[in-house]
Amino acid sequence: MVATLTTSDNFKETLKQQADIVRIVGDYVKLKKAGAQNFSGLCPFHAEKTPSFSVHATRQFFHCFGCGQSGDVFTFVQKVENITFPEAVRLIAQKLGVPMPKISFSSPAEARDAQVRMALLDVHVRAAAFFQECLRRPEGANAREYLKGRGLDEEMIGRFRIGYAPDSGFLLRDALRREFDEELLRESGLFSWKDSSQLSAVSSQQKQVLRSPTPERAKDARSGDPGSAQDDNSVGDADPNKEQRTAESAGFEPKAKSQEPKAAIYSKFRNRVMFPICNDQGKVIAFTGRTLSTDEKAGPKYLNSPETPIYSKSRVLFNLDNAKEAIRKLEYSILVEGQMDCISVYAAGFHNVIASSGTAFTELQARLLGRFSKNVVVNFDPDTAGARATERTLGLLVEEEFIIKIIKLETGFDPDLFIRRKGKDAYGAAIKHSQKYFDYLIDQARAQFPPRTSENKIKAINYLIPHIQRVPNRIVRDGLANEITQKLEIDSKVMRQEMKSVVTNRSATQVTVAAETQITDAERVLIRALASATEMQSSGTRSSAREGAEEEFDPARQAQFALQSEHLYEGLASQSLLEALLAAGTETADVMALPKTEDDRRLLASILMHEEEELTPETVEGAVRALRRIYLRRRLEEVQLATQRSGLPLQERQALLQEKVRLKRALMDPGLGEAGTGTLG
Ligand SMILES: [Zn+2]
Repeated sequence: MVATLTTSDNFKETLKQQADIVRIVGDYVKLKKAGAQNFSGLCPFHAEKTPSFSVHATRQFFHCFGCGQSGDVFTFVQKVENITFPEAVRLIAQKLGVPMPKISFSSPAEARDAQVRMALLDVHVRAAAFFQECLRRPEGANAREYLKGRGLDEEMIGRFRIGYAPDSGFLLRDALRREFDEELLRESGLFSWKDSSQLSAVSSQQKQVLRSPTPERAKDARSGDPGSAQDDNSVGDADPNKEQRTAESAGFEPKAKSQEPKAAIYSKFRNRVMFPICNDQGKVIAFTGRTLSTDEKAGPKYLNSPETPIYSKSRVLFNLDNAKEAIRKLEYSILVEGQMDCISVYAAGFHNVIASSGTAFTELQARLLGRFSKNVVVNFDPDTAGARATERTLGLLVEEEFIIKIIKLETGFDPDLFIRRKGKDAYGAAIKHSQKYFDYLIDQARAQFPPRTSENKIKAINYLIPHIQRVPNRIVRDGLANEITQKLEIDSKVMRQEMKSVVTNRSATQVTVAAETQITDAERVLIRALASATEMQSSGTRSSAREGAEEEFDPARQAQFALQSEHLYEGLASQSLLEALLAAGTETADVMALPKTEDDRRLLASILMHEEEELTPETVEGAVRALRRIYLRRRLEEVQLATQRSGLPLQERQALLQEKVRLKRALMDPGLGEAGTGTLG
């Protein structure tokens, strides 16, 4: 993406120098020191079990040797947050507490998208405040009663910004309409409206059914209240996805605009306790509303915001914003199913709890969680009827190589109820006694198929195999197979072998080995030297000119001179990278932007990540000598081959022989630092 940040280029550079990439990346990836200046961790952009993601502290860039993603701190934030460049700049400025200059975007569409997202965040801030206010008002009495019944005190209600959506469909709209235009409110996911296409899509018979009025609604209709609209909205409430589709199809096509005035919008959430859903930065991006109506027509018990430009269900984990620090510190998370469970567990003092919000985990959610810790204690009830989602979630966590433990509460207890009845200490004990997931599964298998007969043993194995095959690591699978043979008391050798082969033969995961091995140490030194021209001066520790030295040592210049005057880079495995670095000269801001190909970028990253010893005039000179030697030897080989060709004109042959002598002499030159090369030729 080309950013047209002309006015703020300076700002960007200043910000880049201030933003320590290690710290910023560290918010997303658990980094470990891996060398003098580099850190490594599990890549947030692809699934992996051994770290191939590296961050260079002084050069301020990251590179993943697994998937090839690469860039500076802005690229990183852009990719990991899935936002535009200007938004990334803004986010980093916010993290550093640096005030922002005005930003510009590369295209009007991009600017519009970013503006809409920012405005939608504002809408949600206002909506959350509105719901909180309503909870305090007289009409919030039932909601307060409900929350009290769930054991939530003022502090927790405040911390989770819980609110109440009043029964009237118009109050929220009227509150927000003063600040935001209606198009934006339609995009917020907080409102519904009657749409002509929606009406025509619903048959008159359906309408009849949907509109069969309750006494309360009949009254609403008479009083001219938005009641009639609410009736229709029950279509959407009953099926949030349909609601979303409707909202999308209602769209903003000019056709719809010109044809007729749009139907009035009204609040999607009515008479519900409102739980804000936040992104991991703590910004409200959506809501879950728990109904207080006993009337079945009031829609589902829990109603969620539809997907919007700021809310994607599959990318969010409930309470991660509050929990992330604790997860990092305690090195595990507690995963529960519902928001209410999550809040109860949190209120009981277990701050590392997050919720999946009822649906099965997605890969994105698993990776999001994995950024903070790969240890998870799952407090679902895998025995319940809705166990499909649970099983999918657990399977996904296995695939993403989480270390999973299972809390098993007594039948009929969810975390919320358990804590209210038995107290937090009991819950703490339950966490402590949580069972390894595969032990749990083996227990399940044994319970279902008591391994007294070989028939049952086979059934138990077949029950377990699909679970175990999801484990990516072969060694782990092998270990599990051994455990199963023991625990199911499998003494038949044949059965044991059969199981082992099924369990362990999964499509093998391959670790790609780079073709970097062809690069000589001399090339590495010179590439480092060329790249050193662009090293960030702010990193401080750069050594100044030696006492009494005539001239400051400039490795870049020294390397550049030698390589260019003698064309030493020709024919090297790193030729294209060296050429790219040479072409850029010594005045480049971002060295990682220079390589022309993915392979070269990877090579450069790898070399810079492994910079260990300091560059000195001697190491650079030594590398130049080595390349000279390589150059001379290669040329000598070419000459020798040429002289062996038959039918060569005498004159040419003579010239080649002369060159051969010259090359041999040059190779013997003590200045090359290579004694005993007389065996050549
Ligand atoms: Zn990667």
